[in-house]
Amino acid sequence: MLYFPRPLPDELLGSLLGRACRETGLTPTKLLFAITGERMYQSSVFLPTFLRRLASLTQSDVEYLLYGHSTFPYAVSFMPAKPAGQILGKILSAQASKNDYGSLMQTVVSGVPFRRKCDKCAEEELYKFGITYWHRSHHLPGVHYCLNHRRRLNETGIPIRRISGALFHAMPHEIDGATTHLDVSEDLLSEVAVHSVKALEYRGTHADTYFWLSRFRELAESKGYVKSSTFVATRLLAHDVLSAFGTRFLTEAGCNYTPDNPNAWPARLVRPCTKPEYSAPKHILLFTFLSTCGNAASRVQYRKPGPKSKCQS
Ligand SMILES: [Zn+2]
Repeated sequence: MLYFPRPLPDELLGSLLGRACRETGLTPTKLLFAITGERMYQSSVFLPTFLRRLASLTQSDVEYLLYGHSTFPYAVSFMPAKPAGQILGKILSAQASKNDYGSLMQTVVSGVPFRRKCDKCAEEELYKFGITYWHRSHHLPGVHYCLNHRRRLNETGIPIRRISGALFHAMPHEIDGATTHLDVSEDLLSEVAVHSVKALEYRGTHADTYFWLSRFRELAESKGYVKSSTFVATRLLAHDVLSAFGTRFLTEAGCNYTPDNPNAWPARLVRPCTKPEYSAPKHILLFTFLSTCGNAASRVQYRKPGPKSKCQS
């Protein structure tokens, strides 16, 4: 290929591929064939498998695209360094395949059902670049808020999975959208966006899941959900997290659970016997909840720890 566009600030790689279709005049299938030499009918919006080829076409390097334009840093931001490094090694290797990181990206894909856009961002981009594009920071689980313009994002009807034809290269200014009705305060949505976008800054040096487990316990204790090393008010915590975010928000973010489940993920993340859980959206939602609105003061009845379990509810 003689020409390929360069990624714009905060642009998703799937958006770059859409712009490449527009600017080269190729159909999605022909574009993907021109890039990979293989017959492909769709590609991941978040992390295409042909990253090395894209780096060459955009005269950049793989790590620049991975950390600056894919959702990889978000997806591994709460992982221990070793498994995160193993996944990074596979992605950077010449033989990377979808199987190497498909399940990792699934967390992000299942938490963002449709493409989202900010009309103010689109307006400014049209003026500045002559085109609009899909932002990485707008396509993270639970993010319904543009931090640049302090306003709600609009959700479009374009699904994140399996797009083809005209939708492959449709851009925000061409597509209608509307805010999703959520039972969540704008302040809380803003906080979720702040912590989610911060996770995109991961460069392999962040605190890992074990740090966060102890941090969650500290926060849960300060808010009255943890009374001792053996007593955690897990049902109350799960109930309060569900009340703060609402079922629809949690379902869209891929983090829903039934309120009477004693093993719901908020409870698992504060228990001393917790097994490692790497899900970035769950870590971010629990941290946002505990640091901004959770409070069990005066509602927790302390009872003496019994000998049967270290994880009572
Ligand atoms: Zn905006």
